[in-house]
Amino acid sequence: MQNSLQNSELKDREDVAESRVSFGASSASALFYALNHNKIRDEELWGLGNRIRVCSERENHWIGDELHNTETGELYAGNGNLWSCGSKLCPSCVAKASIRSRKELKLSLKNQKLLTGEMYQFITLTIPNPNLSLIQTRTVIDKAWTLFRKRDYFKQKVRGGSKSEEFTLTENGYHYHYHLLCVTRFLNFTEFRREWTECIQAAFKEFYLSLFLQACIADNFAYLKIAFANPILPYEIKTEDGLAMVKVKRLSSSANGLKGAIQEVCKYVTKSDSWEKLPQKDLIEIASIKRFWRMFEIFGSFRAQRNANVVLESPNVFITHLLTKLIVEVLKYIQTGERITILDTKQISDGECSSEVEDLPDKVPKRRREMGWRKYILENGLESYFEKLAEQVEKTRYARKCFLSLKYKYAMFSTLDGVSFSFEEL
Ligand SMILES: [Zn+2]
Repeated sequence: MQNSLQNSELKDREDVAESRVSFGASSASALFYALNHNKIRDEELWGLGNRIRVCSERENHWIGDELHNTETGELYAGNGNLWSCGSKLCPSCVAKASIRSRKELKLSLKNQKLLTGEMYQFITLTIPNPNLSLIQTRTVIDKAWTLFRKRDYFKQKVRGGSKSEEFTLTENGYHYHYHLLCVTRFLNFTEFRREWTECIQAAFKEFYLSLFLQACIADNFAYLKIAFANPILPYEIKTEDGLAMVKVKRLSSSANGLKGAIQEVCKYVTKSDSWEKLPQKDLIEIASIKRFWRMFEIFGSFRAQRNANVVLESPNVFITHLLTKLIVEVLKYIQTGERITILDTKQISDGECSSEVEDLPDKVPKRRREMGWRKYILENGLESYFEKLAEQVEKTRYARKCFLSLKYKYAMFSTLDGVSFSFEEL
C-alpha cells in the first residue's frame, strides 16, 4: 500500500514536471515567433527567449522519490528545475515563486489572531476591461489599489492581508483582477464597492490625463486647446448600479477553511498557455520589462509578523521566541490598542508536518554576485552570451544535483530525460 501510494505521488510529480516543460517550451517559441514576425533584433529579448528555452529543457527538470522532511522525517516525492531562468514568462520559475509566496502567506496566517468582530475574507477586486495593453491595464488597477489602500475606509476595515494579481485575456480585452486574503471587520458590500469604484475612477482619470499630456508634449502642445475644451470624463462602469464588480467571501478561520484561499491567492500567475494567446505586441512589451512588478505582496498586520520573524535571529530559540513575541505584541498594541501578553505556554516549535510535496529544499547558495545577463549581452554580444550561458547552466545543474543528493542522501533522483543521480553516483 505504502509503495503504491508513493508511486502515484511520484507519477503526479512527473506529470507536473512534464507540463512545465511543455508550457515553458511553448512560451519560448511564442516569444521567438513574435520576435521573428516583427523583425525585432533586440539581443536582450533573444537572450531572454533562450533562457526560458534552456530552463524548459528536459535535462533541467528533476523528479525525486523518498525525499524526507528535515523536521519530521516524513517522506515525499518532489520535483523542480536545476537551473532557473527567473523569468516571469517561464512557468517553472513562476511556479517556484508561487510556492515561496504560499510559504510566506502560511507563516503570516499562523501568526494572526482574530480580534472581536474580525473575520477572514477572500476578496476579488476587478476593474472594467479598459481596452488597453496589458501593461497599461495593470498600471490603472495598481493605481486604483494604491489609492484604495490609503483610504481611511480601508484602514478602518482591513487590518492586514495578502494581495496577488491575475489576468485573463477575453474578447473585450484584459480582465485584470486582484485577489485579497485579509482580516477585516464587517464590510457593507455596497459601501465597499463604492469606495473601490471611486478609486478606479480616479485611477482612470489620472491615466488618461497622463496619456493626453504625453500626446500634447509630443505634438508640441498643439492640442492643448482641445484639452481645455474636452475635460476627461469619469470612466463609465457598465453595471446596473454603476459600481465596479467585487466578490467578497467569508472564510472559516480553521486551517482547512483557509487552505483553499491560500491556493487561490498563490496559484500560478497566469495559465501558461496564455502567452501564446497574447497579442504579439503585448508579449514583446512584457518581455521587455527589465524589473517585473511583484505579483504577490503582504500588507498590514500580515507584514508586521513577517518583519518580526525575519529581524530576530538568536542562537537561543527561547530568547528568539520571547523577543519575537514582544515585538509582535508591541506592533499589535500600536495598531489596535490590544493589551500586551508576552508570556504564553504555546509550544515554541510546533513541529508541524509539512506534507506538501512541493516543499522544496533551499536554494544553492550563490558565491558572489556576477554581472547580470542583460548587462553581459549589452557589453559582449549575444553569441558570447550563449557560450557563457551554456557553461553556467552546466555548472549550476551539477551543483544543484550535488546539493540535492547531499541533502537527501536516501532519495532517488532522475532528470526528465531519464538520467538518474543520487548521493552514491555523484
Ligand atoms: Zn525558468
